Amino acid sequence: MSNSPINTDNSAHTVAVLAVQGAFLEHRLMLEKLGARVIELRQARDLEQSFDRLVLPGGESTVQAKLLREQNMLEPLRERIAGGMPVLGTCAGLILLAKNVEGNEVNGFGTLDVTVKRNAYGRQLGSFHCDANFGDLGAVPMTFIRAPYIAEVGSNAETLATVDGHVVAARQGNQIGTSFHPELDSDTRIHQLFLNL
Ligand code: GLN
Repeated sequence: MSNSPINTDNSAHTVAVLAVQGAFLEHRLMLEKLGARVIELRQARDLEQSFDRLVLPGGESTVQAKLLREQNMLEPLRERIAGGMPVLGTCAGLILLAKNVEGNEVNGFGTLDVTVKRNAYGRQLGSFHCDANFGDLGAVPMTFIRAPYIAEVGSNAETLATVDGHVVAARQGNQIGTSFHPELDSDTRIHQLFLNL
């Protein structure tokens, strides 16, 4: 199976990658490899540029939420996500999207109807790699780094992937959240799926 989409023209898409903290560069590189235009969001002024979709990278969700609020980006982005703008949240990005976070106040967007548990794999299993089925894509490589898992999928969301009995990816309309880091493996299918939304 080919990892690279054939004859897919992504040049019409401009993806905004949240770049206040965390692993945003790898997303940028993967999206550019797929032919999409990429801009980085660091402050409210950056929201004035035109973009049609959003990536929320891994990193530290509490720090990202704080910076989003301080930079006055949280509410404008929340409105656009709630309005249907496609969004891919990975790891900390999933936590920002989650409606509920077990035992923590992260106060992110809260637009994806799931409950996540942060640092859910404990210290020893903090980082690991595996292959597992993802939606209709079949098996994809998954790299987990101090990852959350989805403890509960609400009625508005659907499960996309499960590893060892834990949900690690979910979707609600144009929102996709993953516990793992698809930008760290060479398989581009999840980013292409996001660009197709
Ligand atoms: N543990 C981080 C958090 O709770 C997420 C880790 C990651 O994004 N790689 O925000």
